[in-house]
Amino acid sequence: MKPAIATDVLIVGGGVIGCSLAYWLAGEGLDVALIDRHDLNTQASGCNAGSLHVQIMSFQLKLTDERSRRRVDTTLRMYAAGVGVWQELSNTLDTDIELHVDGGLMIADTEAQLCVLEDKVKRERASGLDNRIIDRAGLRALAPYLSEHLAGAEVCPLEGRVNPAIATPSLARGAEARGARMFRHVELRAIERDGRGFKAETNHGPIRCGRIINAAGRLGPEIAAMVGIRLPPYEGEVLHMNVTEPVEHFVDHLVQHAERRLTFKQATTGGLLIGGGWPAVVDQRTGLPISLRTSIQSNLWIAQQTVPRLAHMRIVRTWAAINALSDAGPLLGEVPGVPGFHNALFADAGYTAGPIVARLVTEGLMGRKPTFDIHGLGLYGA
Ligand SMILES: Cc1cc2nc3c(=O)[nH]c(=O)nc-3n(C[C@H](O)[C@H](O)[C@H](O)COP(=O)(O)OP(=O)(O)OC[C@H]3O[C@@H](n4cnc5c(N)ncnc54)[C@H](O)[C@@H]3O)c2cc1C
Repeated sequence: MKPAIATDVLIVGGGVIGCSLAYWLAGEGLDVALIDRHDLNTQASGCNAGSLHVQIMSFQLKLTDERSRRRVDTTLRMYAAGVGVWQELSNTLDTDIELHVDGGLMIADTEAQLCVLEDKVKRERASGLDNRIIDRAGLRALAPYLSEHLAGAEVCPLEGRVNPAIATPSLARGAEARGARMFRHVELRAIERDGRGFKAETNHGPIRCGRIINAAGRLGPEIAAMVGIRLPPYEGEVLHMNVTEPVEHFVDHLVQHAERRLTFKQATTGGLLIGGGWPAVVDQRTGLPISLRTSIQSNLWIAQQTVPRLAHMRIVRTWAAINALSDAGPLLGEVPGVPGFHNALFADAGYTAGPIVARLVTEGLMGRKPTFDIHGLGLYGA
């Protein structure tokens, strides 16, 4: 499809952040066009696990310098607020996005792990979360599907899941219904100043626009470089996920392990989605991410230790995709010295945060005070 010739706001990237931006900004009555070099929701947003993560993850506990700690604590509050935005969207979007906020468990094998979780809960409660520790008996009562060898768990009531294969397309349809123009297979290649706005060069010719929002995910630094901004590079982390055959519903929570690489939950269709950050690779021949047998076996071995019933269930599918990792933290809002150019970049659990990121960038672009206290985030101008 041919791109728009002119628009007020050009969004680069059709993942969850770009589609949410198109949804909110078109809702403000702005003239909005979105471009993606592929189809919409085909990169990280369309290939992720759909977990709504809120609590501090175990790898984040290893970030002990003051700046990282502050960032983790602030993004923690942002994730919590982000789940609220997903709940709001589930009431307004045109379809059931399979949103469930039934709580998350971070499980511990040993008393020592449980002690670490107790300290973590204190930190999270200081940020306003209602997390708590449960012991072995409490865990048996709450989640009888888990191994009886577990020592206990941390409960985070705000965690849950959403279906990315439904939610992002629903946001995109909502944006189009509000007047946004969405262009697939249009790649941004260069940006020039054009009066007070920009001329965006694409593989389908130029787009003139008043403002540009960089929602290009892990390729965000490349887009920023087009206007002379050097962002810290995003590292691509290739990960895999496994899906079991569908069975009747028996797992209510989003479960992750305090030390081992394991996350899982049960999808609405009945299949268990099992992951946890096991490495995958990019196939040199096709350039596409593929799963590694060793990672699948290790991931499933830990899963089976944790959920004994898994020993009798079959894996029907596995997939791999590239996540963005960055030390920079969220990069949101208009860049000082480049009027009209905004970043909307968020690594880590970016599907959970996608809609709130888009809402904050929208509020900044509209000149409104953010509805979420952004102090401590890398929000430009904060
Ligand atoms: C396997 C896996 C599991 C994950 N699990 C979870 C999870 O359970 N929960 C969670 O919260 N997060 C999870 N994540 C992370 C989450 O998926 C991402 O943080 C989030 O989707 C990022 O959204 P985005 O819109 O910024 O980026 P993307 O979805 O990557 O979208 C960016 C878009 O920009 C486009 N683009 C790039 N350059 C250009 C250009 N020059 N011109 C035009 N378009 C361009 C790309 O084609 C892409 O479609 C997971 C990620 C992976 C890979």
